[in-house]
Amino acid sequence: MRKIWRLISAAFLGLVLLTCLSACGAKSVAEQDVLTTDQKTNRITWGVKADTRLFGLENIRTGKLEGFEIDLAKALTKKILGHNGKCTFVPVTSGTRVPLLKNGNIDAIMATMTITPEREKQVDFTHSYFDAGQSLLVKKGSPIKNIQDLNKPGKVILGVSGSNSVKNVAKFAPRARVLQLSDYAQAMTALKSKQGDALTTDNGILYGMAAENPHYEVVGGNFTKEPYGIAVNKNQNRFRKKLNLALDQVEKDGTYNRLLLKWFGHVKGFNYQEMKR
Ligand code: GLU
Repeated sequence: MRKIWRLISAAFLGLVLLTCLSACGAKSVAEQDVLTTDQKTNRITWGVKADTRLFGLENIRTGKLEGFEIDLAKALTKKILGHNGKCTFVPVTSGTRVPLLKNGNIDAIMATMTITPEREKQVDFTHSYFDAGQSLLVKKGSPIKNIQDLNKPGKVILGVSGSNSVKNVAKFAPRARVLQLSDYAQAMTALKSKQGDALTTDNGILYGMAAENPHYEVVGGNFTKEPYGIAVNKNQNRFRKKLNLALDQVEKDGTYNRLLLKWFGHVKGFNYQEMKR
């Protein structure tokens, strides 16, 4: 008899526990208020590039990420959370950044991401913090001088999957074949091993590659406009507003221009003066 009672009470306890867990359990990603959580934990988790020199690149000696976007993320975090505010950096690629945001692995994306109407259906953006434009990287002495030179059957353009750049190729050079790699380090390796006639992405990223690879150059000017925005999940308006405010503050107090000078001031061919805010 005692055994039965024990069983019944254990089952009852289990049921109470289960009801409680579902009622007061973890909220779904869409329900969570990112700003409240970040203020409580004193930490913002950023999705950043780790393969993109000048913007976000892993320094293999220190294991630390370095670049304009890394510094900007640190500055914005301090504006939002105060001087002791901390950042966690999660490396993303052009293809993984939106899924990682949607799954709640990161709070915001600051990863050379162009604000496009298509992406605005999935995520919300802050106002633009960097005005890039799409261009081409080729081996010095290449007959390719612009995007029209690539619009021929047999031409191969290298790009990264999930990037806006590979989509734009369909508009500007529909006759070329696009070979999509999973990140920019791989795309550069493919260019060096002559798997394509040119590598395409935004000018700033390409200048970063050219700086490291002196036999390669940026050609063809900018044939698109790529304004970068910070992406956050839908329904995170409080967080987005704070980010916009923090962006305004770093632009006004000179931090933005200081970081621009630090990362782009000495890049050959890159007109950093034009980018000042
Ligand atoms: N800005 C472009 C994009 O958002 C290209 C750079 C990148 O792949 O992140 O897709």
